[in-house]
Amino acid sequence: MSDQRLTIDPARRQPPIRKSTGTADRPFPQPKHVIGKPASSSSSDQPDGSVTFVGTATTLLHFPPFTILTDPNFLHKGDHVHLGPGVNSTRVTDPAIELEELPDIDVVLLSHYHEDHFDKEVEDKLRRDLPIITTPHAKKCLTEDKAVDEKFSEVYDVDTWQSMFVSAVRSSEGKDQGITGRSVKVTAMPGKHVPPGFLEKANDLLGAVPPTNGWMVELGSESHTSVFETGYRIYITGDTLLVDDLVSIPQRYSDAGKPIDLMIAHLGGTTIPSPSIPLLMVTMDGKMGVELIKLVKPEVTIPVHYDDYDVFASPLNDFKEEIKKAGLESKVVFLDRGDRYDFGMRNNKT
Ligand SMILES: [Zn+2]
Repeated sequence: MSDQRLTIDPARRQPPIRKSTGTADRPFPQPKHVIGKPASSSSSDQPDGSVTFVGTATTLLHFPPFTILTDPNFLHKGDHVHLGPGVNSTRVTDPAIELEELPDIDVVLLSHYHEDHFDKEVEDKLRRDLPIITTPHAKKCLTEDKAVDEKFSEVYDVDTWQSMFVSAVRSSEGKDQGITGRSVKVTAMPGKHVPPGFLEKANDLLGAVPPTNGWMVELGSESHTSVFETGYRIYITGDTLLVDDLVSIPQRYSDAGKPIDLMIAHLGGTTIPSPSIPLLMVTMDGKMGVELIKLVKPEVTIPVHYDDYDVFASPLNDFKEEIKKAGLESKVVFLDRGDRYDFGMRNNKT
């Protein structure tokens, strides 16, 4: 299958919420704190890109002219999610911004179809033609399985190791800001939300926990010969355990001369059906997070998805302690909800 392509037109943006009375060009949320380094490749004092942490696995990746929203979840403290047969969870935090306050979004990256990553309110309110890149399973849920007038119309399914390119209509506007010709390559990474073996087979039958993707989000540019050059590479783990399949990631990237600049790690040691009946852990705990850093070797890691729901059994302190033990403090950036991490592109494109 050839790579899928999505071209956005920054001049024709619409609000991400349907039936919205607002206009496009909505302001980007003001960060609580800004962490990180200024631009390296541009002369302005604007960073080349940034990650804003909203809560759970929800982030805003900004790489002008693109804004990417990951795993949108805008529920509040006390709200409930249904995560599969007999598994419910309560949110214990508030998101840093409200769904209605979102800036204009070009594309949503959805790792899997679970309510703590795509809640019912988000599903109801998002504009039907907002582009969504996700798993084949989630695509079916958002299209075929929905009533005719509720179907999402711009859903792209990307299976493990398949890629998709997002580029922008070239306009003279971008030229001055040095952003003309920028594009984004998204490749689906392996991930397993259920331990391999018997439980995975049982789950396949029950369909309880949906299949999940990780993402390699490569920020760069495409030359007129369509060669994609990456200046910053972000690995988003998705909800996965530390499984053998992940070994292929350093083999294809960090150990193959394609450095991973940033890893956004979904932690939390999510335990179902509940922390008081801990039968099964389905996301990495603090210890696994550190093992994954050693395996994938990202330059910087930002943990997310660690304290927003009561099924998260491994708090951020577990990870902090393990990071200390491993002497990796300088490789981790901790963002509070509402904080923004700024980064500059590498000068050597890989
Ligand atoms: Zn999750």
